Amino acid sequence: RTPEFPAPETRTPASPGSGGGAIVITGARENNLRDVSLTLPKNKITVFTGVSGSGKSSVVFDTIAVESQRQLNETFSSFVRNRLPKYERPLADGMDELSVAIVVDQKPLGGNARSTVGTMTDIYSVLRVLFSRHSTPAAGPATAYSFNDPTGMCPVCDGLGRTVALDVERAVDWTKSLDEGALLLPGLSVGSWEWKLYAESGRFDTAKPLDAYTPEERELLLHGSGFSVRLELKTGSADMKFEGIVNRFTRLFLKRDTGTLSEKRREAADRFTVKRPCPECGGARLNAAARASRIDGLTITDWTRMEVADLIGVLRRIDDPVAAPVAAAAREKLERLVGIGLGYLSLDRETTTLSGGEGQRLKMVRHLGSSLTGLTFVFDEPSVGLHPRDVGRLNDLLVRLRDRGNTVLVVEHDPDVMAIADHIVDMGPGAGTEGGRVVYEGPFDGLRRADTLTGRCLRRRTPLKETFRTPTGRLAVTAADRHNLKGIDVGFPAGVLTAVTGVAGSGKSTLVSEVFTAAHPEAVVIDQGAITASVRSTPASYLGLMDSVRRIFARENGVDPGLFSFNSSGACRECSGRGVIQTDLAFMDPVTTVCRTCGGRRFQNHVLAHRVRGRSIVDVLGMTAAEASAFFEGEAQMLPRLAALDEVGLGYLALGQPLSTLSGGERQRLKLATQLHRTGSVYVLDEPTTGLHMADVGTLVTLLDRLVDAGNTVICVEHNTDVVKRADWVVDLGPDGGKHGGELVFEGTPAQLLAHPKSFTAEFLRRDPG
Ligand code: ADP
Ligand code: ADP
Ligand code: ZN
Ligand code: ZN
Repeated sequence: RTPEFPAPETRTPASPGSGGGAIVITGARENNLRDVSLTLPKNKITVFTGVSGSGKSSVVFDTIAVESQRQLNETFSSFVRNRLPKYERPLADGMDELSVAIVVDQKPLGGNARSTVGTMTDIYSVLRVLFSRHSTPAAGPATAYSFNDPTGMCPVCDGLGRTVALDVERAVDWTKSLDEGALLLPGLSVGSWEWKLYAESGRFDTAKPLDAYTPEERELLLHGSGFSVRLELKTGSADMKFEGIVNRFTRLFLKRDTGTLSEKRREAADRFTVKRPCPECGGARLNAAARASRIDGLTITDWTRMEVADLIGVLRRIDDPVAAPVAAAAREKLERLVGIGLGYLSLDRETTTLSGGEGQRLKMVRHLGSSLTGLTFVFDEPSVGLHPRDVGRLNDLLVRLRDRGNTVLVVEHDPDVMAIADHIVDMGPGAGTEGGRVVYEGPFDGLRRADTLTGRCLRRRTPLKETFRTPTGRLAVTAADRHNLKGIDVGFPAGVLTAVTGVAGSGKSTLVSEVFTAAHPEAVVIDQGAITASVRSTPASYLGLMDSVRRIFARENGVDPGLFSFNSSGACRECSGRGVIQTDLAFMDPVTTVCRTCGGRRFQNHVLAHRVRGRSIVDVLGMTAAEASAFFEGEAQMLPRLAALDEVGLGYLALGQPLSTLSGGERQRLKLATQLHRTGSVYVLDEPTTGLHMADVGTLVTLLDRLVDAGNTVICVEHNTDVVKRADWVVDLGPDGGKHGGELVFEGTPAQLLAHPKSFTAEFLRRDPG
């Protein structure tokens, strides 16, 4: 393989004047936007830059994409319209010349256990056609190879490739009696009516520990059936059918389509179950007939288990004149996956296991296959998860989308992506109320000279670290062989800042998030995943600030603190204190609209009448950390927590902004904010610079440095060379992705890495050694 390192400067911007027309936005005021007016050239690439919270998403997603969708919906008949999500018109004086917008974001790909890279990209359906026509013995037409169709699916696992069963060891505590709470499954707590089904059945001694049960009693408790139990319920007495706890769990949690289970129940089901490869198909998902068909000695399962890059080679060898064109069609689609740096994936990979960045690139591939033109594509930091080596390939795709006659809008922090922009919009000057304006508009070259934060950062160089901390110990991982890891031994030094690097698919997440955390369960993982909290949660409640806020409001007004709680009698009745109403739609994302009763203020008017120094509870929730620090000056418990928000670069967030509106990077930094006072911990972070402007990357590293100086160990997977340069230690995996990766290429200090002959990471450090 010959690596390619396309220098951004060599790319040609689209010739000026080609295409024509412009998206014109005047007086935009969503979120923090201050009457923003913009003219965005059509059929060009526009990159939006600026610190997080400056308003990039408010322009691109909340204004342009929302209005485009709303106008599109208006064109449908009222019958269709009534079934579509309702979008409110964004706050702006004018929005003209929009085209249909396609948002390609990092939201998880959705889907379920039946959705794989192959099904999602439609490549699998092409392979099925090939097998139905050209394999021996052919199992039938193309559905005979579909694991989502009864004619093709394995009858034992219904095409899931694995079986799920209740893990009895986790479901009960054998050392306890029924009275002591031996039943650990959800809904079976002592005293509940479901618990009474067992405790009051008259068949068990409720004081006897389960491990003293006879084999018959055990069997009855787990699998019993065939008689009824008379229970005294609040509504009177009733005869309930007895059902062993295993059967009951299987019926309620496993036999149902998981899509119909609530999130809580799904979590419970996951917690108490074990997944095993299906004994019949061994994970192939297909029935015996489909598994027996072969082309050139390989089954369709052999194909889907290969890395995409290898499958291309297999398809190339098909020279039968009838089959070759079909194979070529599949190859063309596969080449696109390789082109975007996903050649290390296999088609059988479940989409739910992909990272946000991988998902976004996969969605991109899907759109590249379409021949529609005249659209507006909107990307949210597409470089996330990409090694600098692969950013060039990403740029190629963006350029191809443009050259096919589309408008491309990109929110991005990576200068290598900015470099291909035909037009740049730099938002700022700061975040939140300090931002919301356009501080520079024009070509990238101009931005490099501009006196804006982004411009200044582009001119700055991060020096390579020269003095390194001495490790206080070693956190070893031995013979790591999960996924593509090739049995590697890695000694992570304790008490220092370590960066784990390598191209996408080299095995970084596998090593750190799976192997390391399994070997060192004391590690604290600070990831970008959802924060499991109530829909009413906010940064203030997450950081434990609400108790103080409520207490101060109660004290100053002589009322009960509970009044100022989102789930109290003082909350708006219409929206139950959420400020928004969420409407679930069967096949689409749920739609959120501002509550008409309280206008998003979440409380009833009489609650808002109580003031502290002239401010209501809602005014306080609208404050940023910086504003709140000034307002609550002297409140000893609150100030460190507010300062923590500021330190992790979230000083611009409103205290009451719903957590559900935070991006992955923001969630990760909010979690980090709760950890700043700890010592002696091991922290694991996956790409903590996601969503961070160059200016904030420096602040983040300073913060990580402080954590280390306070006696903690910090390990982060990171692509950002500015972070790598400032680490004490680098663990570089590779050399490439998938089966061509999984080796330890280098471990040592960044200064030593600089001289490494083979590492791709070294190559990029040398490009800009500071
Ligand atoms: P960027 O994309 O540049 O990071 P955003 O457009 O997301 O910035 O945010 C700009 C400002 O608007 C920030 O102060 C942010 O906290 C606020 N904001 C963004 N989304 C919401 C929302 N759904 N509700 C309230 N405030 C929001
Ligand atoms: P990185 O973090 O460096 O991008 P990963 O650790 O995500 O790399 O992936 C390393 C290899 O392991 C890749 O070949 C990837 O396809 C594979 N892999 C990662 N996660 C899974 C998974 N959940 N199931 C199967 N294969 C996986
Ligand atoms: Zn099976
Ligand atoms: Zn309301």
